[in-house]
Amino acid sequence: MRSMDALIAAAAEHLAATRNAVALTGAGISIESGIPAFRGPGGLWERFDPMEIAHIDVLRRNPAMVWKVLVKDLKAVMDHAVPNDGHKGLARLEALGILRTVITQNIDGLHQMAGNTDVIEFHGSFAWQRCMQCERRVETRTVDDTVLPPRCGCGGVLRPDAVFFGEMIPPLALWRSQETTAACEVMLVVGTSAVVQPAASMPLIAKENGAVVIEINPEPTPLTGAVSDLFIPGRAGETMNRILAALESDR
Ligand code: NAD
Ligand code: ZN
Repeated sequence: MRSMDALIAAAAEHLAATRNAVALTGAGISIESGIPAFRGPGGLWERFDPMEIAHIDVLRRNPAMVWKVLVKDLKAVMDHAVPNDGHKGLARLEALGILRTVITQNIDGLHQMAGNTDVIEFHGSFAWQRCMQCERRVETRTVDDTVLPPRCGCGGVLRPDAVFFGEMIPPLALWRSQETTAACEVMLVVGTSAVVQPAASMPLIAKENGAVVIEINPEPTPLTGAVSDLFIPGRAGETMNRILAALESDR
């Protein structure tokens, strides 16, 4: 097994050699910003069945309940979350002309806040609420949630502009993800358990098209050892810091 220093150096070398890297990120990259993942120990899906609180049919039938047990708490956390060194590292890679696009399963808007300009949000955005009647969008942090569910001026219920279970992935996001993935030279996979489709298939598409796949995650995933060329066992923030330090000292 390669030492941590050797893994970091190899990742920095691959990144320094390209102007067309793409990142695929998941809930893990935002954990250091205080936003918990849903899956795994202590996660939301341990306490609730997603089909009973995060399914589109449940939202249509009982929006007050979905706001009460899911949306209100998420809003409380996400309204104040700020990017961590993992997000900032990806923004720095874009500023250096290395990273082109971030494909994310996250709905927290932290990549844009960190400074990445081309972010494909696979699962939509929690930064916005959308009226279920007139489609008007309002910023989540401006929504008053003392009376549930919050409503639009037209009387319609406000809902997160994010993809619920039972809803389709936005087709344009899916199409653009596949295009950028197939064209990239390096794919950086950060903080995703790689079990949710279709995001999980992106690293495979990258690899089949000749890209180097670099994975950063404290735990191995189904990609590890199978699809990933490099697996760096570590947290997003400090690992990105180390890769950038190696990369920028070589310039
Ligand atoms: P996941 O919860 O399935 O997996 C999270 C992964 O992050 C795990 O593999 C874990 O080992 C890893 N991880 C834990 N700590 C880490 C750290 N400090 N640095 C890097 N990696 C770390 O996440 P997923 O694959 O993104 O799927 C969950 C779905 O739930 C997503 O589709 C997303 O829409 C939604 N979600 C979003 C947010 C958010 O917007 N921040 C948060 C929770 C869930
Ligand atoms: Zn409305």
